[in-house]
Amino acid sequence: MNVFVVNCGSSSLKYQLINSDTEEVIAKGLCERIGIDGRLTHNPVGKETYVSETAMPDHKTAVSLVLDALTDSEHGVINDLSEIGAVGHRVVHGGEKFASSVVITDAVIKAIEECNDLAPLHNPANLIGISACKALMPDVPMVAVFDTAFHQSMPEKAYMYGLPYGYYENYKVRKYGFHGTSHSFVSKRLIELIGKENSESKVIICHLGNGSSITAVKDGKSVDTSMGFTPLDGLIMGTRSGSIDPAVVQYLADKLNVSLDEVINILNKKSGVEGISGVSSDFRDLHSASEAGNKRATIALEMFAYRVAQYIGSYVAAMNGVDAIAFTAGIGENNTAMRRMIIGYLEYLGISLDKEANEKRGEEIMISTKDSKVKVYVIPTNEELAIARETLALI
Ligand code: AMP
Repeated sequence: MNVFVVNCGSSSLKYQLINSDTEEVIAKGLCERIGIDGRLTHNPVGKETYVSETAMPDHKTAVSLVLDALTDSEHGVINDLSEIGAVGHRVVHGGEKFASSVVITDAVIKAIEECNDLAPLHNPANLIGISACKALMPDVPMVAVFDTAFHQSMPEKAYMYGLPYGYYENYKVRKYGFHGTSHSFVSKRLIELIGKENSESKVIICHLGNGSSITAVKDGKSVDTSMGFTPLDGLIMGTRSGSIDPAVVQYLADKLNVSLDEVINILNKKSGVEGISGVSSDFRDLHSASEAGNKRATIALEMFAYRVAQYIGSYVAAMNGVDAIAFTAGIGENNTAMRRMIIGYLEYLGISLDKEANEKRGEEIMISTKDSKVKVYVIPTNEELAIARETLALI
């Protein structure tokens, strides 16, 4: 069966068509500038990339253009829409309502709408994608896969904030965590690789990309994670600050004479390694700048590694030990220098780096030496495949 995986943003739509028997991608692509003008980049595997600048006033038009591209006689990959057996939608926030993926029904759509307040930029866009697909493929079963669901297993002591309890009861202010699909996919693979039973494993997953988070996974379940009520918390990221003293927010609003909204925007979009270095949010640029003697780029890299190492240490404490650690996502899979810097902090766990293995990029590999007490792996994440698997399992 072919599963159509959809990841809808406010003005974009990423998709993959995956053959669920072989788990191969048949086509993938991206609609950009929806509601502005519109641009479709469609990559049918084994054929030439097709780019179209057709107007996309809304998401329904974008989905319709993608379906046309998938079934086109020249750059298509299927004969007609009956070859799409299911649709898997990435949904950012499931609040406390969804601890796993679900088949989309009217009641599910209503429950996702009720989580809109928690992710005002993302959930409404995800819902638009769902209704666009529903309108064009009314009889195809659809599944919602939530970024937050994997972390619903966290215990209260991990997800509660030190705030008056009523704010949790009345407004659901708590840690939710994100990147759940990736943490779940990579932790399952890591537990498999180290040959442990799910029920007696302690692993830490470092999803390090433009957005970064770390999760402690005990017995196959998330027990703590570094992102919080929003993805702004935790690690220092490309442009996000990660955790800071909350009193800084009001202080900066006063000093800069801007609204609290504007300060939050600065923390999300102008901070992190880009804000620190003044160079870039991309780690390749930061390493080049650092090698050329740029001090702020060096500090940004050091701060990033230090914060990651601190989280790893705190999760070893939270689980009273760790069997293995995995690196994934853009930085985790490719940035050999950053992995070296982070692992430099982990000698106390009996970890030593296999320098040769660590030079490999983008492939599944063990990068700790054979005699390391705690194993360290690089495991490429694949959120689309994870969504396709969940979708297939539920329909
Ligand atoms: P992601 O958000 O998972 O796509 O990760 C994107 C980030 O990965 C980029 O912003 C880079 O900082 C980082 N990255 C990707 N490739 C490399 C590389 N070869 N060396 C260093 N950093 C990389």
